[in-house]
Amino acid sequence: MKIGFIGLGNMGSPMAGNLIKAGHDLVVFDLVEASVNMLLAQHPGKASAAASPRMLAGAGMDLIITMLPASQHVKAVYLGPEGLLANVPQRMALIDSSTIDPQTAREVASLSASQGNVMLDAPVSGGTGGAEAGTLTFMVGGNEADFDRFKNIFSKMGKNIVYCGASGNGQVAKVVNNMLLGISMIGTAEAMSLGVSLGMDPKILAGIINTSSGRCWSSDTYNPYPGVLENIPSSRGYTGGFGADLMLKDLGLAAEAAKLAKQPIPLGSLAQQIYQTFSMQGNGALDFSAIINLFRKK
Ligand code: NAD
Repeated sequence: MKIGFIGLGNMGSPMAGNLIKAGHDLVVFDLVEASVNMLLAQHPGKASAAASPRMLAGAGMDLIITMLPASQHVKAVYLGPEGLLANVPQRMALIDSSTIDPQTAREVASLSASQGNVMLDAPVSGGTGGAEAGTLTFMVGGNEADFDRFKNIFSKMGKNIVYCGASGNGQVAKVVNNMLLGISMIGTAEAMSLGVSLGMDPKILAGIINTSSGRCWSSDTYNPYPGVLENIPSSRGYTGGFGADLMLKDLGLAAEAAKLAKQPIPLGSLAQQIYQTFSMQGNGALDFSAIINLFRKK
């Protein structure tokens, strides 16, 4: 397939790389020229660059994938006279893998459909490690027949490909899961800190939680207490992993979506405020499990 790929950041670059390795012909674009040049250098002769989304839209693609930071960047790439929607030929397939609010995903997909094009929202989880290894989880919203048509493409970048229902539902699944993760990480951090300050050994405490009813992913796979588990951010100074600012972004998306749905999320909102405080103190680049530092004596 001839695939256009826009957004060659931490996630997009390895995802595009996996499509190239699978034998697809890529045309790429990013605002940062150095990112484009790096991808082209990593895969000599296997990809080319477009000068803008408009040029890419007119370059005879079978499919265009976008992987952008947030809603405003998705709107900038898709909408307006220079955007994808105004410039792609009819029946173009578009997949947005950025994490954005479900409402914007639905608006852009509906505009796309009104012009006779196909659009899927397909946010991912699995981080940069999953993007490199081609083991991402894709949560996909849109028409099921379109999902079936592109499942094979998703499988070149991920290994868990889930159809979530109508347009925007991929973003719903992503945002709801990450809200729960933010809440459960704060809960685990609070419980571990309390137990240790009351005299428990952190490893023994984690062992008990992980064989009892308090067990969750934040306690058994990504425990925030340093030294409990090896090879995770809490055991290497909270470097690498999933940044606290990215968690804050996803909690903001959940809050936004909840407001529109008039749905209460008291713990989600509290988690957002806690991460906001943590970020304001200059910790946004640390892994999100570093939130435990709010509860531990220096
Ligand atoms: P990033 O900031 O590293 O990359 C985004 C890229 O988009 C950059 O290269 C930027 O130059 C480019 N860009 C921005 N505006 C553009 C425009 N108008 N036209 C063309 N290119 C433009 O971000 P990332 O870490 O790759 O994340 C991408 C998305 O995936 C985000 O929505 C993020 O929330 C989500 N996500 C990230 C992770 C992670 O661990 N990094 C995990 C899961 C999901």
